[in-house]
Amino acid sequence: EAKGRGKNQAVFCTGEIKDSTTKNHTLVNNLYWALERDELQLLYQPKISLENNTIIGFEALLRWHNTDYGVVNPQVFIPMAEQTGMIKPIGLWVMKTACQQIKRFQEWTQSELSISINLSLIQLRDTSIVKNMAAILQETQIPPHLIEVEITESVAFQDEPFIMEQLQKIKELGISIAIDDFGTGYSSFSRLRTFPIDLIKIDSEFVRAISSNLHKDQAIIRSIIQLAKNLDLKVLAEGVETEEQLQFLKKEGCDFIQGFLFYAPLPAKSIEELLNYT
Ligand code: C2E
Ligand code: MG
Ligand code: MG
Ligand code: MG
Repeated sequence: EAKGRGKNQAVFCTGEIKDSTTKNHTLVNNLYWALERDELQLLYQPKISLENNTIIGFEALLRWHNTDYGVVNPQVFIPMAEQTGMIKPIGLWVMKTACQQIKRFQEWTQSELSISINLSLIQLRDTSIVKNMAAILQETQIPPHLIEVEITESVAFQDEPFIMEQLQKIKELGISIAIDDFGTGYSSFSRLRTFPIDLIKIDSEFVRAISSNLHKDQAIIRSIIQLAKNLDLKVLAEGVETEEQLQFLKKEGCDFIQGFLFYAPLPAKSIEELLNYT
């Protein structure tokens, strides 16, 4: 009976909703196998120092190559991974893979390249994350300051004492902390003061506005850069795509940039080739 009723209910769905729901169910089911089937890949986007135009490190960005749906965006499957608990093994895989890879890049170039890893709120709630990070540091012997975790502004300024504790412990390991997508959340200045941050990443939304000559957006970027300087933090601009944006950021004293103007996120093999020629 209950089964029949469930079927009847589906009649009330519009075709579109039903399709996307079915697709999501299939995706979620496939996600369970993604790790085992080796379908996950990390891309590495270079971070550039504006002081001397050199690559100082990379941000690890996750991709899922699904046989049926092609490349699935992290914005689609990370929430699914969180709902199903798959984020734990996936997050661990990301940390290990990214750190082993940066170790190889470092040995290859004999230089201090850093690696940034994105962490979500759900991941920070996991009590084993600090222990896992400590184990990876131990295993790889990477200088901890060359590992950076990125958390979005809204996560960082969550009123959750446990999150604060976790970040404090990560910081105590010597790992750096960056605030991602800065400017889109609702940060309070007092939080910025008490928080163990090293870097502010200006959201691409503001960077994009530079070229449209919106004075207010330029004023916001300028203020964020000044705020970072006054707090002794480094500042990076995300999503830099044009020469005009680059020149503005340089003039205002931004420390680092990421964006298609220099490099898109690339597979490890392409990065190795790149490091060969630079
Ligand atoms: P994010 O950390 O803010 O990453 C920046 C996003 O901007 C990336 O999208 C990157 O590919 C894209 N991007 C870089 N340069 C440019 C540019 O010049 N123009 C434009 N239009 N876009 C640019 P992506 O790779 O799709 O990642 C989306 C989000 O998914 C990330 O935002 C991050 O929040 C999350 N994410 C990615 N990998 C992971 C991961 O391993 N773990 C977790 N928890 N989240 C991840
Ligand atoms: Mg990020
Ligand atoms: Mg961002
Ligand atoms: Mg983002």
